[in-house]
Amino acid sequence: MAEGTSVNDVASSMSKKRQGYLGWDDYFMSVAFLSAKRSKDPRTQVGACIVNEDRRIVGTGYNGMPRGCSDDVFPWCNEGPTELQKKSLYVCHAELNAILNKNSADVRNCTMYVGLFPCNECAKVIIQSGIKKVIFYSDKYKDRTTSQASRKMFKDAEIDCDQYQPTDEQIVIDFTSIEEKKNRIISSDRQNVTGFTSLDKKKDRIKSSDSHLFSELSF
Ligand SMILES: [Zn+2]
Repeated sequence: MAEGTSVNDVASSMSKKRQGYLGWDDYFMSVAFLSAKRSKDPRTQVGACIVNEDRRIVGTGYNGMPRGCSDDVFPWCNEGPTELQKKSLYVCHAELNAILNKNSADVRNCTMYVGLFPCNECAKVIIQSGIKKVIFYSDKYKDRTTSQASRKMFKDAEIDCDQYQPTDEQIVIDFTSIEEKKNRIISSDRQNVTGFTSLDKKKDRIKSSDSHLFSELSF
């Protein structure tokens, strides 16, 4: 016990709620980024998380091939020798999958958290599904025609769009924390890290050779 700290002080601090817990936006965007970890796309991993008005998660998704279309057979590049070998013809985006994966009757008036600002195809689906708000992290394709079309549609359909500002750039998931609270060794190569900036700064990311232990969630 630190000098000048009484037993009553310690007891009093333990009776207060924990500080530094995840806020709602950080939590839901983290779920979106965690979902992206499931993507097999070697270039871009995007996740989405749909939340209803009671702050309950009603759907998650990530970019991937349609069910039954093998990840090992269908192409993952956009520079194939023929038009038919481009991934864009086949891949379902995270937003579409999150809506189709919903575990509620519908997603009316829900909010979608998503790593990238939605493309025009996803914007159509978002609008038609009844989602009323989109919170996105990266807007790196804002100059593309597809993003401009999305903005135009969201504006007229009165869909709120906000860019997410993370409280911290990274969120660490340490599986050992529940078992070894007192003496645990915090080692950077034994943590699972969610890096919100990973979608924007892919080249500058820290790479760890121990990739099965050190994993960065890509927004
Ligand atoms: Zn899309």
